[in-house]
Amino acid sequence: MATILIIEDNPANMRLAEIILTSAGYTVQQACDAATGLAQVQAEAPDLILMDVQMPGMDGLTATRLLKSDPATRTIPVIAVTALAMTGDRDKILAAGCDGYISKPIHYPDLLGKVHALLTATRDAPGQSR
Ligand code: MN
Repeated sequence: MATILIIEDNPANMRLAEIILTSAGYTVQQACDAATGLAQVQAEAPDLILMDVQMPGMDGLTATRLLKSDPATRTIPVIAVTALAMTGDRDKILAAGCDGYISKPIHYPDLLGKVHALLTATRDAPGQSR
């Protein structure tokens, strides 16, 4: 089963995402800020990243841009988690390189549906051996 790294500064949101993903059988790694998360990506190569957008220090979109500019990490799917529901945010999130996004509060069918779709797409993509 795939390993998913959750990068999230809010303990309640972290716990909720962890419960949803572990209940579905995924292995979960956790980082409570972007810098720690980026280091974990390099060290442990998760299959997918759940990335909070709003975090103190480096925000989630900046972290995603860094991951997507590195050949070693650019193929790892990133799902942005955003509390913002403005129309322009979708464009900002996709422009940063995120492969998808969900809105807070997290609804588990939405989260699991997007995780499953992205993991399946990554696995089936030509030239991907992850
Ligand atoms: Mn946050």
